Amino acid sequence: MTGLDELYREVILDHYRNPRKQGTLSGEHVHAEGSNPSCGDEFFLDVAVTDGVVTDAAMRGQGCSISQASGSMMMDIIVGRTVEDVRDLTHKFKLMMSIEEGDNPVDPERPGSVLGDLEALQGVRKFPVRIKCADLPWATLTDALDQTTA
Ligand code: ZN
Repeated sequence: MTGLDELYREVILDHYRNPRKQGTLSGEHVHAEGSNPSCGDEFFLDVAVTDGVVTDAAMRGQGCSISQASGSMMMDIIVGRTVEDVRDLTHKFKLMMSIEEGDNPVDPERPGSVLGDLEALQGVRKFPVRIKCADLPWATLTDALDQTTA
């Protein structure tokens, strides 16, 4: 294991052990649920959107460390951003997870930098079956945001 892999592991485990924004929202919000049967992951998401801005979010879920850590990292990064920004981040995350290692179009200067802790999930690309785990919260988020544009 290289130093970078070790760092990534620590970031993922920190989010898994201390997940951000656990629970539900009580005010007006949209709700979406997703699951990844191949791993047994489940993800439940509440998102509050006001005037095109994600004002709050809450998650509940169970499953592997990759899926829950990805969800926790997502919570950290989406609140306070516009829906447009969040959709752009979702796109960048999917790009990061779908490309070959060492070839990162997100930010040529500093790969993955706009994604913050999510950069740590790049290591998951080596395990294609786990990419679905990392992607689950983001697919659920897209379902939730799609309800807000109606
Ligand atoms: Zn999983």
